[in-house]
Amino acid sequence: MEYGIVRCKTALSPSRLPGLAYSLNPYFGCEHGCLYCYSPSVFRSEAVARSWGTFAKGKSNIAEVLARELQHKEKGTVGVSTVTDPYQPIESRLQLTRTCIQLLKKHDFKVSIQTKSSLVLRDLDMISGPKFEVGVTITTLDSALANKMEPRASPPDARREVLERCHDKKVETWIFLGPIIPHLNDDRESLERIIQVAKATNSRILFDKLNLRPWVMENLTSFLAKETPDSLENLPALLSAKSDYWRRTSAVVESICRDLDVRCERAFPAITQ
Ligand code: SF4
Repeated sequence: MEYGIVRCKTALSPSRLPGLAYSLNPYFGCEHGCLYCYSPSVFRSEAVARSWGTFAKGKSNIAEVLARELQHKEKGTVGVSTVTDPYQPIESRLQLTRTCIQLLKKHDFKVSIQTKSSLVLRDLDMISGPKFEVGVTITTLDSALANKMEPRASPPDARREVLERCHDKKVETWIFLGPIIPHLNDDRESLERIIQVAKATNSRILFDKLNLRPWVMENLTSFLAKETPDSLENLPALLSAKSDYWRRTSAVVESICRDLDVRCERAFPAITQ
């Protein structure tokens, strides 16, 4: 893993993601190395895409830049983070995310955290009240499968604990259930187990399918060739706009959520219909 630092010119970027006014990414790169990650497509660089998951660089001046921006930015929800995980391993030393959250809290901005790491628990001393929400991505509760797909993220049980501890602190929580990948983690039992976690922690479910942005298929191919060889060839067709795969799978998620009385919505309704 290559670690390093970079400097940034801006800290808050306008966000078009549902519910967010801004995004804040204290790191460039992500050590978690999820095989399905499409964050690199944001950088439009083949070199970045090919090396994604092998480097994590802290934006050393981000707190300074953020403090300046917060003097004049209009209030709005800040997504922490959108193209990296704010609580990846190097954050335990650099504390860039922690410092940014302190600043956002001081300036009374709403903060929406999304992570796959139990390191977020370190910051529960600050994360409290209606200005915070914590989202945890759970693709499967099968730790062996999670370890193959998301090799350096916290295991699913640790992510469940994040939701439990936040729930105990009365912090609003949600589960990002995705990506749902055909024939891999889309069976009813697997989906229901995750939704049961949402039920137990009063979390909302946001669900999403695999997004085949550039380079994603390349990263996934050898993994899927071992795990689900029969469906590999059909994957792009199943995920195309013409296929009714996603309509059927969404109906399953929605019906489990209805049965368990769990709030549920598609993560990106405009682009996943
Ligand atoms: S944690 Fe998020 S940003 Fe990091 S590799 Fe996984 S999907 Fe990509």
